[in-house]
Amino acid sequence: MYEQDNEELLVIKGLHKEYNDLIVLKGIDLKIKKGEVVVILGPSGCGKSTLLRCINGLEKIQGGDIRYKNESIVSKDVNLQDIRQQIGMVFQSYDLFPHMTVIENILLGPLKVQKRNKKEAMEQACELLDRVGLLDRQDSYPRQLSGGQKQRIAIVRALCMNPEIMLFDEVTASLDPEMVREVLDVILGLTKQGMTMIIVTHEMNFARSVADRIIFMDEGDICETSEEPEEFFTNPKTERAKHFLNIFQ
Ligand code: ADP
Ligand code: MG
Repeated sequence: MYEQDNEELLVIKGLHKEYNDLIVLKGIDLKIKKGEVVVILGPSGCGKSTLLRCINGLEKIQGGDIRYKNESIVSKDVNLQDIRQQIGMVFQSYDLFPHMTVIENILLGPLKVQKRNKKEAMEQACELLDRVGLLDRQDSYPRQLSGGQKQRIAIVRALCMNPEIMLFDEVTASLDPEMVREVLDVILGLTKQGMTMIIVTHEMNFARSVADRIIFMDEGDICETSEEPEEFFTNPKTERAKHFLNIFQ
């Protein structure tokens, strides 16, 4: 059978997550197709990061299922290292290893985890570094880079594992305003290559321009879904989304 373009890569059903007594995700249902760019919006504390962390296998869940390519990633015998190679994640805090150079940071996964050939991995790393305009910084240490540069390196590091899905959790939230654009442009470039992505952001104009679908979350639930981002921003259906968007205007 041919692999179809509208193939569902990720299927989340009834995802329920608690921390001690706090219910954080209240039965999330979400399907992501290959090549889709889904932007998750919602107020602070509504569970966006937790949802991404669950998808990346970083959290134990208390109910429901998360299936990647029709295989549950929450069952006991799943190989999480495998999953994390397929589903890359970049966080708000650029979590580069401070004692390693840029290129060492990037090659760690491809060489140690994926056991790839050094020359081949190096070529890919350089190509990616070039694409984000940082080829000349490969021997720098993270402390020698700006926030925007570090975040672009963190993205390259994730991409160098050749993931099929990328998760971005407020990757520009701790950047100075003048550096936000350079990081968003890298993500924009990925949309043009057809990368499947789930993006959590508070950059509303960016969300509007890249999203195939907007998911609006509140209090651990998906409150509103829109396949027409423009429609969501100009005419949200729920009061909660209206209220949320007003804050950003
Ligand atoms: P968002 O990313 O939308 O701001 P989070 O997913 O970070 O929200 O958090 C959702 C809720 O879960 C919040 O109430 C937060 O305090 C709580 N929470 C997040 N992580 C933990 C944790 N490790 N232990 C306990 N509570 C947590
Ligand atoms: Mg968060």
